[in-house]
Formats: sequence, C-alpha cells, structure tokens
Amino acid sequence: MEGGLGKDSSMERFYDCTNCMKAFKVSSVTEPSAEIPETKVSVTCPVCNTPNTVTLPQGAKLIVTPPN
Ligand SMILES: [Zn+2]
Repeated sequence: MEGGLGKDSSMERFYDCTNCMKAFKVSSVTEPSAEIPETKVSVTCPVCNTPNTVTLPQGAKLIVTPPN
C-alpha cells in the first residue's frame, strides 16, 4: 500500500545574498500537481537579515536554510 504523500512539488534553490554574498538555501513546498505561477517574493537572508528578492512559486511555503 502506498503512502498518501506521493511526490510533492518541493524544490530547493540556492541564492546568493546581495549583501553578504553568502549562499543560502530556499526550499519551497507547493501543492502537488498544481500549476502555480511564480512570483517575486522577499526572503530575508538568514545570515545578515537583508531582504533579497527571489522568484518562487506563488503561495509556496518557504524554508530558508542558512549556509553551513
Ligand atoms: Zn546576507
């Protein structure tokens, strides 16, 4: 019996902060099998707290991971 989760539409992208140049990871989780337009959103750098504009699926749940 298969689980109910299946493949989700999560993805990971790396962005370089415009201020501190550190690469942080943004994971976005969207509804499975949904056509979601991408939009520009502001993500706060986890290192220096500078807002960065990134393009991600609209309404996606964002998880920002600081660099190691
Ligand atoms: Zn930064």
